[in-house]
Amino acid sequence: MAPEFSYQDLLPIGEDKTEYRLLSSNGITTFSADGKEFLKVSPALIENLTEVALHDISHYLRSEHLAQLANILKDPESSPNDRFVAIDLLKNANISAGGVLPMCQDTGTVIVMGKKGQQVLTTEKDELSISKGVYQAFTKLNLRYSQLAPVSTWEEKNTGNNLPAQIEIYSDTDHPDEYNFLFIAKGGGSANKSFLYQETKAILNPKSFLSWLDEKLRSLGTSACPPYHLVVVIGGTSAEFTVKTAKLASTKYLDSLPTMGDAKTGHGFRDLELEKDILKLTQDIGIGAQFGGKYFCHDVRVVRLPRHGASLPIAIAVSCSADRQVKAKITKDGVFIEKLETDPAHFCQLLPMMI
Ligand code: SF4
Repeated sequence: MAPEFSYQDLLPIGEDKTEYRLLSSNGITTFSADGKEFLKVSPALIENLTEVALHDISHYLRSEHLAQLANILKDPESSPNDRFVAIDLLKNANISAGGVLPMCQDTGTVIVMGKKGQQVLTTEKDELSISKGVYQAFTKLNLRYSQLAPVSTWEEKNTGNNLPAQIEIYSDTDHPDEYNFLFIAKGGGSANKSFLYQETKAILNPKSFLSWLDEKLRSLGTSACPPYHLVVVIGGTSAEFTVKTAKLASTKYLDSLPTMGDAKTGHGFRDLELEKDILKLTQDIGIGAQFGGKYFCHDVRVVRLPRHGASLPIAIAVSCSADRQVKAKITKDGVFIEKLETDPAHFCQLLPMMI
């Protein structure tokens, strides 16, 4: 007999605990129809949100990331090289928070994911509004244009404004009166460290898996500016879903996934124990923060996904030292953007003793 029907999202993201700041409460109107409240959002508001998001992620980091850098200075097991890199990155964070120079010369490919509630209405193609915001940010700020248009298969030309961006809008029934966003600026070196492997069940046991992973991690190298936020995704309903999940997890977007699997629905989950084992592995490898030491990675996220019995896709991805992503949302109360750290000096008390 077939088991009872049951449904769960493949990636059941839990409660959003992000701390937001209010950007604006203008540009949103509401009306009622069919007993529901609908939001009308102006295109200018989405454009402005995109511009602010790209400004913020080009200049500010999350507090957690800065705290991890500061901890390298406190850790007696850090190598002199780990400390040297952490000091430089903290100094760099202070310079970029000044709002003139971005945190890295590679200011990235813009990737935007929107989850649009079914009661949110806009009057322009949202991809267009977002692209206008990308244009404003890159042409007004000191950000590098990295996008090459293929004029023919063999000829390329820089588009001169960092467009096009990768924009993906999904419909959202869980938050029908909200428009949620994730903005990413992904550097080329960091993006190059996204890998897909098609493996078999032969490595689906702790010993074989960690031995397999040890080899792959050594081959990651340091060209994407560690310490990394490392992600390993095991399984997946398709190759592209596995890699996409790794990208999302590298932004901490999936941090609130369940930590146990479920035989009925097969939803994805985080394996916290394996995260600890892999973090230890990255420390024992000895590559460290670029020139030898403990801090090849700040942290590790492992997401286990369901799979076809004949496939075992595995993805590895990193977020680099330009850990650039920010969440945002539009509700009837206004436009909100995730709070990033605008004063990284809080994390630099140890710097004067170390420089
Ligand atoms: S890997 Fe990251 S920190 Fe390094 S150059 Fe690229 S964007 Fe910048």
